Amino acid sequence: MSLFWERCSICGRHRLVKECWLHPERNVCPYCCITCPERNDCPNPVWLPQLRIRVTRREARKEAEKALEELLAKLSG
Ligand SMILES: [Zn+2]
Repeated sequence: MSLFWERCSICGRHRLVKECWLHPERNVCPYCCITCPERNDCPNPVWLPQLRIRVTRREARKEAEKALEELLAKLSG
C-alpha cells in the first residue's frame, strides 16, 4: 500500500495520504478517511481500519490526529 505526501483528493490539502480502498483513483488523508460518509460500507478503510464505529466529527478528528502523530513518530524514528 502506498503512503505518501500528496494533495488529498477530498479536502485538497497537502497531507500524508493513502490510496482509498473504495476509490483507488483517490488519495485520502486520515481526516477525510475517518469522516468519510462511505466508511461504514468500506471493507478496508486505509486509515485506522479498526475504527468502524460511527463517531462524531470532533472525535474522528481527535482519532485522526492521534493516528497521524503515531505515524509521524514512526517515520521520524
Ligand atoms: Zn483530506
